[in-house]
Amino acid sequence: MLIGERITVLGAGIGGLSAALALARRGASVQVLEQAEGLREVGAGLQISPNGMAVLAALGVGAAVARGAVSARAVSLCDGRSGGRLLRLDLGRLRSSHPWCLVHRADLVAALGAEAVAAGVSFRFGCRVAGVEAKGGQVALAFDDGRVEAHPLVVAADGVRSVARAALGPAPAPEFTGQVAWRALAPCDLPADPEVRVYLGPGRHLVAYPLRDARVMNLVAVEERQAWVAEGWSHRDDPARMRAAFAGFAAPVKALLDRVEDVHLWGLFRHPVAPHWSAGRLICLGDVVHPTLPFLAQGACMALEDAWTLAAAMAEADTVAEGAARYQALRHARAVRTVAAATRNARAYHLRGPVRPVAHAVLRIGGTLAPDAALGRFAWLYEHDVTR
Ligand SMILES: Cc1cc2nc3c(=O)[nH]c(=O)nc-3n(C[C@H](O)[C@H](O)[C@H](O)COP(=O)(O)OP(=O)(O)OC[C@H]3O[C@@H](n4cnc5c(N)ncnc54)[C@H](O)[C@@H]3O)c2cc1C
Repeated sequence: MLIGERITVLGAGIGGLSAALALARRGASVQVLEQAEGLREVGAGLQISPNGMAVLAALGVGAAVARGAVSARAVSLCDGRSGGRLLRLDLGRLRSSHPWCLVHRADLVAALGAEAVAAGVSFRFGCRVAGVEAKGGQVALAFDDGRVEAHPLVVAADGVRSVARAALGPAPAPEFTGQVAWRALAPCDLPADPEVRVYLGPGRHLVAYPLRDARVMNLVAVEERQAWVAEGWSHRDDPARMRAAFAGFAAPVKALLDRVEDVHLWGLFRHPVAPHWSAGRLICLGDVVHPTLPFLAQGACMALEDAWTLAAAMAEADTVAEGAARYQALRHARAVRTVAAATRNARAYHLRGPVRPVAHAVLRIGGTLAPDAALGRFAWLYEHDVTR
């Protein structure tokens, strides 16, 4: 049903851009509304595992993204205090023809945006939607300046702070998860190993991986907090506070943190996976319906999978209702499982007290005796290809 269908996509993040491109590729006439003045992303990295890269490849941007990215060989879990490796997940053992890419967010957004423009997608920037109402065979979008426009079919990808989600039914406000994340880039003198290192400590962990020409390390440092007291969801922070939070960590971590000049702090918020992903001619995807904690590096990958699945389901359906129902049926259980796995990882990473050395010993021994078992537990996630 997509040929010639007029579709408005709300939000030009990774979910919105990939949905716009996937829908345009199947014949829809797509317009994207974005509150920012242009395509932009935070200056930080993103891991796109093979399940996400499969979608990028099918959308025709896989090679361009992979060219500018570092292809990761392993994910290593390390003890934060000693720096010693507890477990190495050899990513070469995954049964997928797609790489595990470490990509700068701005590069990914630029690649998706350029391809979307080439596919005929149009953009309206500086366009903040204040309210969404789905009724009477159309979707009313209310703008900040008081204007209201009727759109025939809207795909909302406006993130965890979505204005569209309320139109899907009663929705609890996003809640603070008790975790904050600093994001920073640290220059390196020599190209770093193509590896993701996760340093685990009590109540905190730090993820480090190389980007672009591997001369810059992307750092995500997570700390547990009682409350989020800042007004917004992120703000610039003093690098000294990030260094202080990880002062007890090993020398390689300290060396990276010493090079950080500019850092942002994010409160991590979430709400439960939405029970309904569409209402009338409004369909939602990505963080709008299943915000995912970053501890499995899957939020953007899930948004990519949603985008592909939505376009495929709509293309095969005779009506919007049929396509939307098929899309949710294909995605809901996988999103619930992924969100739960990411939440479990948060607990496992931050263990405190006597259970911590025991768990670390189990990781070390398990990794020696059955090196592929830990990665094998996530085959359902990383080896899945929604484009097949
Ligand atoms: C610290 C951290 C690290 C992460 N690392 C990874 C990782 O390695 N791998 C991974 O897969 N995921 C990762 N994630 C998760 C990932 O960033 C998100 O899940 C993903 O960006 C969600 O994409 P989205 O398009 O649904 O929403 P968003 O990226 O939030 O995009 C929403 C877009 O909508 C626009 N918008 C919002 N409201 C309005 C409005 N009212 N009107 C108009 N426009 C609007 C916004 O400006 C934005 O452009 C991480 C998250 C965090 C916090």
